[in-house]
Amino acid sequence: MNSIEKQLQFTCPKCKEEHKVTCFEQIGPDQKEQVMNSSIFQWDCESCGHKVKLVYPTMYCNEEKKFVIFLRPNAADATCIGEEEQARFPGFTKRFCKTADTFVEKVRVLEAGLNDQAIELLKLITFAKIHVENDTMEDIFFYRMSESGSLEFTLMYKEDVDGIDIDFSMYENVLHIVQDEVPPLEDDVYCIDLNWAGAQVV
Ligand SMILES: [Zn+2]
Repeated sequence: MNSIEKQLQFTCPKCKEEHKVTCFEQIGPDQKEQVMNSSIFQWDCESCGHKVKLVYPTMYCNEEKKFVIFLRPNAADATCIGEEEQARFPGFTKRFCKTADTFVEKVRVLEAGLNDQAIELLKLITFAKIHVENDTMEDIFFYRMSESGSLEFTLMYKEDVDGIDIDFSMYENVLHIVQDEVPPLEDDVYCIDLNWAGAQVV
């Protein structure tokens, strides 16, 4: 599925000049790099250079890999994706994200062919382990698979950003737990995030 662009009028919040900005109704693998480096949500004013993060409802779909990720800023939960919209993607992995950061991360995870339930559980375990020693840690995001096959995560601290490398065998261990102990998901839209992971371990 290719990306579909639309042009919107946008007033720069700084210099108040009107500009046409490119938004996407849907995003396909042709824009994968722009999603993964978040530049797709970045707009620089041509008049004054002011940088704005533009986040709007959209979706990323890879038909070959059979997954679709809906971005719905400010929506409460996955029920905002109507049945009609879901029905377009039978048998697909369907995910809902509320923020640009989690949307970008989800594209990274599913494009890498990883199981996002296992990734979120692995993030939860890693977060808990590090947080015990440093409680300024606030968030953790999947970044990419390294060339040696390990998994790289970004650690967000209150005033710092760091990274951690996790062995692929750790991921495989968690994947086995998902396959053996977590009830299988239905053909529905799910929000698979750290909250989801937390709910699995209580
Ligand atoms: Zn401007």
